[in-house]
Amino acid sequence: LMQVYRPLNFIGFVYRELRQGLTDIEEMFKLLDQAPEITDKPDAKPLAVTGPVIRFEDVTFHYDSDRPILKGVSFEVPAGKTVAIVGPTGAGKSTISRLLYRFYDVTGGRITIDGQDLRDVTQESLRSTIGMVPQDTVLFNDTIGYNIEYGRPGASMDEVRQAAQMAQVGAFIEALPKGFETPVGERGLKLSGGEKQRVAIARTILKAPSILILDEATSALDTKTERDIQAALDVVSRNRTTVVIAHRLSTVINADEILVLREGLVAERGNHAALLAQNGLYAQMWSRQREATEAEEALALAQEDP
Ligand code: ADP
Repeated sequence: LMQVYRPLNFIGFVYRELRQGLTDIEEMFKLLDQAPEITDKPDAKPLAVTGPVIRFEDVTFHYDSDRPILKGVSFEVPAGKTVAIVGPTGAGKSTISRLLYRFYDVTGGRITIDGQDLRDVTQESLRSTIGMVPQDTVLFNDTIGYNIEYGRPGASMDEVRQAAQMAQVGAFIEALPKGFETPVGERGLKLSGGEKQRVAIARTILKAPSILILDEATSALDTKTERDIQAALDVVSRNRTTVVIAHRLSTVINADEILVLREGLVAERGNHAALLAQNGLYAQMWSRQREATEAEEALALAQEDP
């Protein structure tokens, strides 16, 4: 039952609908498309992608007018580069990814991709340009193969298999008695959070979007799972313009730029080494995380070796 109330990034209210019986992703997208405030302008054009370069220019945003969430956020993700967003819970990190996918419109400033304001392009072209790997992937009650193929309907079995390999979930699937034909989801095989995220990555590898939004799982993963996911993410983000909401040190170390978001503002920015040298919020966050990781590892060792 707890799961019903677990917040799900990006699709919050839709998730509740899904739990109430709609299990088909098409239904989910229909619901998303019905978000009342987001509509295509009559003269909206398809997004023309060259870079793609993403720019947030002095973006402000609130869900409720009495409570500002983003208070003037500016940053650029150059073509093919990775920007990681870190910061405390509630800082507005997921909101940034929702705005980029245009689940909501900014309340001030603007967001552009290759100079085109998101509000001036068709939602369909925007969403086909962006691949999103959410924290918590909803799998359809269908085969695991279908769940991957969904990234590019009509992809061949070989392509599905290759995407699964690249996402570090291929061997796991091949080892199942029914392989890619194994039913998953509510009525089938239950996958762990780490496995589901790799299925989502495989789906995104097939979709081959030029922009990638990753929302890393906050839950603790064992070292091997973490390494597998990191390897999968490296494949999918290579040469793609990537925004990652990062919870893992391994991800931020590799990012071209890190934004430390605090209370709706960029408090610090720079690469890992520069931010550590600043000895501010970022440095504090990661020394705390390192202590937690070391404690976990010590515990795991103690359990292995009683
Ligand atoms: P983060 O990802 O950094 O944890 P979020 O972007 O999810 O932060 O949320 C920022 C703030 O916005 C939080 O205080 C959250 O409660 C609030 N918020 C998020 N989604 C909604 C929503 N749909 N309606 C109202 N407030 C929301």
